[in-house]
Amino acid sequence: MDIRNGGLEVVDAVVVGSGFGAAVAAQRLAEAGKQVVVMERGRRYGPGDFARTPAQMGRAFWDPSEKLYGLFDAWSFRGLEGLVSSGLGGGSLIYANVLLRKDEHWFVHDSPLPGGGYEHWPISRADLDPHYDVVEKMLGATPYPYDDTPKTQAVEQAAAALGMPTIRPPLAVTFARPDEDAAPGLDLPAATYGTVHPGSHRRTCTLCGECDIGCNVGAKNTLDHTYLSSAAHHGADVRTLHEVRAVRPLDGGGYLVRYVVHPEGARGDTDTRTRALPERSIVARRVILGAGTFGTTFLLLRSRASLPGLGPALGTRFSGNGDLLTLLLDCTRDGEALPVDGGNGPVITTAIRRPDALDGDGWTGRGYYVEDAGFPGFLGWLVETAQLRSTARRAAAFAWQVVRNRVLAQGRSNVSADLSALLGDGRLSAGSLPLLGMGRDVPDGRMSLHDGRLAVSWTTSTSRAYFDDVRSTMERVGEQLGARFQDNPLWWAKRVITVHPLGGVPIGRHVGEGVCDEYGEVRGHPGLHVVDGAAMPGPVGANPSLTIAAMADRAATRMLEQDWSRPRRTHIAAPARALAARAPGATSVAFTERMVGPFTLDQTDPRHGAEIARSLGDHLQFVLTITAPDIAAFVADPLHRADATGFVESNVLGGRLDVERGWFNLFVHPGGTPGRRMLYRLWLRDAAGSPLTLVGAKEVEDDRGLDVWADTTTLFVRVLSGHVAPPEATSHAQALAVLDRMRDDDVPDGTIGAGVLVIKPFDLAKQLTTFRTDGDAGAAALAQFGRLFLGELWDVYVADKLSGRRAAPARAAARAGR
Ligand SMILES: Cc1cc2nc3c(=O)[nH]c(=O)nc-3n(C[C@H](O)[C@H](O)[C@H](O)COP(=O)(O)OP(=O)(O)OC[C@H]3O[C@@H](n4cnc5c(N)ncnc54)[C@H](O)[C@@H]3O)c2cc1C
Ligand code: SF4
Repeated sequence: MDIRNGGLEVVDAVVVGSGFGAAVAAQRLAEAGKQVVVMERGRRYGPGDFARTPAQMGRAFWDPSEKLYGLFDAWSFRGLEGLVSSGLGGGSLIYANVLLRKDEHWFVHDSPLPGGGYEHWPISRADLDPHYDVVEKMLGATPYPYDDTPKTQAVEQAAAALGMPTIRPPLAVTFARPDEDAAPGLDLPAATYGTVHPGSHRRTCTLCGECDIGCNVGAKNTLDHTYLSSAAHHGADVRTLHEVRAVRPLDGGGYLVRYVVHPEGARGDTDTRTRALPERSIVARRVILGAGTFGTTFLLLRSRASLPGLGPALGTRFSGNGDLLTLLLDCTRDGEALPVDGGNGPVITTAIRRPDALDGDGWTGRGYYVEDAGFPGFLGWLVETAQLRSTARRAAAFAWQVVRNRVLAQGRSNVSADLSALLGDGRLSAGSLPLLGMGRDVPDGRMSLHDGRLAVSWTTSTSRAYFDDVRSTMERVGEQLGARFQDNPLWWAKRVITVHPLGGVPIGRHVGEGVCDEYGEVRGHPGLHVVDGAAMPGPVGANPSLTIAAMADRAATRMLEQDWSRPRRTHIAAPARALAARAPGATSVAFTERMVGPFTLDQTDPRHGAEIARSLGDHLQFVLTITAPDIAAFVADPLHRADATGFVESNVLGGRLDVERGWFNLFVHPGGTPGRRMLYRLWLRDAAGSPLTLVGAKEVEDDRGLDVWADTTTLFVRVLSGHVAPPEATSHAQALAVLDRMRDDDVPDGTIGAGVLVIKPFDLAKQLTTFRTDGDAGAAALAQFGRLFLGELWDVYVADKLSGRRAAPARAAARAGR
């Protein structure tokens, strides 16, 4: 490992995540001899490691703050729930193994979206076909080989009766040993490239139906068994429990990646929240983001201020790939129970394809697939015991029999038949089958940061016709199977649950349409690539993993044709320090102020920025403690300088940022400017570690009516890249000269965003209670501060008017008694 940059690791590529995009890219780059580090936040799961007992299942979720480092990462957003995975192999660990290609005609062009914008795929099926071939081979894609599985037969027969064609989609599962017929539970030979699970053994599929909770048999050809094992074989350094927090470009080329290592096994009061863990850094020539739709979009939203090339398409084109889950209960045929046995066979074995208007032949609407969705056999117990009335009736009958046997000494001593009756006939679980629909919904969802957290705004309403169509096909399949059709309860709240979230960092033809080019390279940031579901510019329609993997394979081919020279040595600055609170022997005055308002990136004019920010829902707030360390010096100084400490929080700057150093000036009078200014200058560092400076001014002028309230509570802010220091002034004369040179109308160089903040009335009332002093002359210090404050207002709003001229800064100095 190359160690440069003051002890930092430097590698060719850091691959973030280990799902379908990341694993493929890591393997291709490692195989080509590149030095690759894979950082996956979750744990490693070999055969036999997946949770099964209730105690294990209860902890199988991902939430490090609660010391949960498990497999399932569940999200709840406006309009939808999402389920993704956390572990080495990403979604492949819990997916249903279906590897379908995106339908040729579904790569849409300029397809309008209801709220404006359009969906456009800048690539075609022909572009992806060679890469589909490669991935299918590596993942051992093969159609389900058994013909006697009840749920498969039931769906295929129902579809045939409805005149709807079905397909057996290729599954990434090993059903047979090489050159043998399919047979369950047979030992498999080791892969030629070894494994990332030393000492583990894999077997052919036992048809246990547990694919969505992890295959303990090792029959699923998940990414850890395939691409990641091969990547490790070729030298990739695969690290688990490594979570990437932010990325930023370096001046000398390449990127600095900031990450934390989760302390799995930490006990007691240890603070395991991700943001409380010490951050570490690594430098890479290329960074390949494969953290999934939620993970990658979140990372880029957090790093947005550091990556100015990220265009307006960031966060757009979100879709749930049209996912709709429903349930068929009590399947029957000719009045008899039909045991479809949802727990027998892999989770998905067959699919009904419904055509799309794009397919031609007079079809209308948006196309989709309906697939059987089995469930683990043990879930049947849950289904049975969940029928409260019949369970209670059977329990009461059993208890009565025991009482008769023991107390009344009547009846039989053998209770086998009673126990059998207690367990019931299992008709409900054996006759139930979930159905999973997916297809071309409308990709008009938007992803953003809210209070530093990921937010997704999406609604079923614009895709209503599509969902109604999917639901009606499922109902018709249910009718054919003599079943009771049951909506997923979320549906009645107009919500869906998606296991296929897509979009957020779409590919496109230009920066307005796509954050990335058609190969997933982020525009304006060479060497930064997105290779996962986030890069999809719309729904795939079919199950998306194969398309994600094929696009990653195509992207890797492109990367390998590009420049791989190492980043030059780069200075990485340490955080600046806040100033001391009180000067020795002096009396300090401090107060705390909160301001909030619309603020957005890519704008330089605060008022215009605020207007745009309102429409986007972007905002910024700060909570600052302003401290004048020596009140006498503060009043006498024409620049009335004080220190500012605290934090800034903004969705577009990546959440909460501590003020590393801050300056405040109360009522200064810049040359050639009417009235006074209250000035703020804060040094910040965004989530990716890039230095930023917030500069703000309250413009206190008597320009219209009695606007003293608005003037003193409205702050026009800009954020600049880099740490920009205030002008130096160590003497009174220098301070006056600084004021003379100050101008309002200059847009500072490096402005990356602008907006307008205000103090809300409640916050102002609170602010008045925060005034405090430190030192011997507390009351006098407060009085001095108050005189300066009110005196300046008097000058601006009354004295200047009466005298017909503007007050000179010297007047403040005179008031200070000099
Ligand atoms: C129950 C279920 C069944 C499914 N069945 C199918 C199916 O049959 N066929 C199909 O095509 N698709 C299926 N899917 C969907 C499929 O799993 C996803 O589409 C696919 O995994 C997405 O791939 P990806 O590369 O975008 O990211 P993912 O596979 O989601 O991988 C992202 C990885 O990045 C890691 N990560 C996230 N943030 C960070 C960070 N900051 N630092 C480091 N690591 C990070 C995560 O832990 C995760 O391992 C299913 C999904 C589920 C949940
Ligand atoms: S059905 Fe069971 S053995 Fe077969 S792939 Fe799924 S989890 Fe593995």
